[in-house]
Amino acid sequence: MLFQLLRELEPYRAKLVAVSKTKPVEAIQVLYDEGQRIFGENRVQEIMEKADRLPSDIQWHMIGHLQTNKIKYIAPFIHLIQSVDRPKLLHAIQAEAAKINRIIPILLQLHVAQEETKFGFSEEELMVFLNEEPPASFPNVAIQGVMAMASFTEDEKQIRREFAQVRATYGRIKTKYFQDNPEFSECSMGMSGDYQIALEEGATMVRIGSLLFGPRPCQITP
Ligand SMILES: *Cc1c(COP(=O)(O)O)cnc(C)c1O
Repeated sequence: MLFQLLRELEPYRAKLVAVSKTKPVEAIQVLYDEGQRIFGENRVQEIMEKADRLPSDIQWHMIGHLQTNKIKYIAPFIHLIQSVDRPKLLHAIQAEAAKINRIIPILLQLHVAQEETKFGFSEEELMVFLNEEPPASFPNVAIQGVMAMASFTEDEKQIRREFAQVRATYGRIKTKYFQDNPEFSECSMGMSGDYQIALEEGATMVRIGSLLFGPRPCQITP
């Protein structure tokens, strides 16, 4: 599955995040041995335990809702925090990164899905926020783009609309606040069920779990 997936991503030059949440280290090691280096997890405790037991050149991405008091545990090694969904979290990451003299790469999570349970900024909220606190206010954070999840629906048109909206917002944010910053370049969207649509709509990074590792016992993100 890994190689087939990589072939599909190749024409889009998109990166693959293998979402290994709930899966054992042995399963991660198998993909690692096949060459995969980027893995995504949604719980701090789990990411720490796994990072401890697996090769140190794995690039760990945090993709789940993150509590501010837990940032310190992942701050030293996290490769990308994709799920920055509120100003308070960005401030807290800045503070923790400064303490250890690191620049932590992050993505801003956008809320485009219909479900209220999903996290993230609306475009409007993000514009207001970045106007008040431009990227330069966070010298220890590298804002590298946006992340989003589409609605959980069978309606492909709806999903496509939402991904197109993410890409459009990404473009407007980039033009307005990151014109001179080539680092702001990632649009992380698409999961096992909808990554093909996401690629067609401009994803630069997809996050694939069940397609690579098999279904999880419970598909609901805690
Ligand atoms: C679990 C998860 C994924 C992967 O979901 P699959 O449907 O298993 O591919 C992607 N992104 C986020 C934020 C997730 O929580």
